[in-house]
Amino acid sequence: MKQNLCTVVSNVEVMPDIHLMWIKTPNIACSVLPGQFITVRCGDFTLRRPFSVHQASPLMGEDSGEGEIALLFKVTGKGTLWLSERQTGEGIDILGPLGEGFSIAPTKSGQSKHLLLVAGGIGIAPLVLLMQYASSQHQITLIHGASTANQLYPSALPKIGPSSAGKKRSKLSPLPTGVQFIPVTEDGSMGKKGMATDILPDFLDWADQVYACGPLEMYEAMAEMSLPALSIAEGRSNLKLRKCQVSLEVRMGCGFGACYGCTINTNQGLKQVCRDGPVFELDDIIWQEVRI
Ligand SMILES: Cc1cc2nc3c(=O)[nH]c(=O)nc-3n(C[C@H](O)[C@H](O)[C@H](O)COP(=O)(O)OP(=O)(O)OC[C@H]3O[C@@H](n4cnc5c(N)ncnc54)[C@H](O)[C@@H]3O)c2cc1C
Repeated sequence: MKQNLCTVVSNVEVMPDIHLMWIKTPNIACSVLPGQFITVRCGDFTLRRPFSVHQASPLMGEDSGEGEIALLFKVTGKGTLWLSERQTGEGIDILGPLGEGFSIAPTKSGQSKHLLLVAGGIGIAPLVLLMQYASSQHQITLIHGASTANQLYPSALPKIGPSSAGKKRSKLSPLPTGVQFIPVTEDGSMGKKGMATDILPDFLDWADQVYACGPLEMYEAMAEMSLPALSIAEGRSNLKLRKCQVSLEVRMGCGFGACYGCTINTNQGLKQVCRDGPVFELDDIIWQEVRI
């Protein structure tokens, strides 16, 4: 974990109230793993605001150059409003990378070839870095649920890459090649009408590992779905969801384990989301006690 004074490379509203911000920060770009997060000092607010690392360029282990990371964030209050107003070239104070991210079983072991990713709304943010890491070795299906078509990820992010992509910027694909993208919208304006969790069971037989990021209601629905009685009643192997890795975006204080403000109760005892997570297994969390 390092504190970095970084420079904003670009900041664009890519969907209504959702910004994609590229930040020059070689230290973090070359060390961040999927599911980890950073905290940003937003103006005069005492508490830093946490954000998942959405993309990194180059990835860890790749030839380093001008390291940059991207955040994909929704404007929900004063801190994110401040962040959304930052301009190219401005300085920004970042701490990271923080937390324990997603783990991917190696393909060689034969345990994990097919990865199913489930995103609810802005929950797509950490899953894109996971795809960047895993797409060369694994087959990936991404289900993205949103309220309406213009909130769906790839339709909105055509050509905004890291500055180091230079002339290649216009060819930068928002999702790695080969990813199967399944859109779901609540109003039916694109893909199937409904919620991401409505179609999730159809992909569980295919999946070796499942990863999710979304609102609390999505996790509660998934936890319910994974109950043995329901799996048997539906004649499906929904039990795979029990080992599903979820990124839990609860409110945080310090972000690095000092204040215990984000402690949750799990089946393994008390855990700090900022230090032990934010990624946990779905069936480890006592969902009735989680407050976001
Ligand atoms: C590990 C982690 C990773 C995150 N990654 C992202 C990300 O990639 N993109 C993104 O848009 N947001 C992400 N968030 C949520 C983001 O941190 C909050 O939206 C932000 O801190 C709100 O700050 P604010 O000052 O704008 O809002 P505040 O004024 O603090 O709050 C305004 C509203 O936002 C809600 N809110 C505050 N904190 C959270 C939270 N942690 N989760 C959900 N709602 C919250 C409040 O309930 C309130 O309704 C993440 C949170 C965590 C803990």
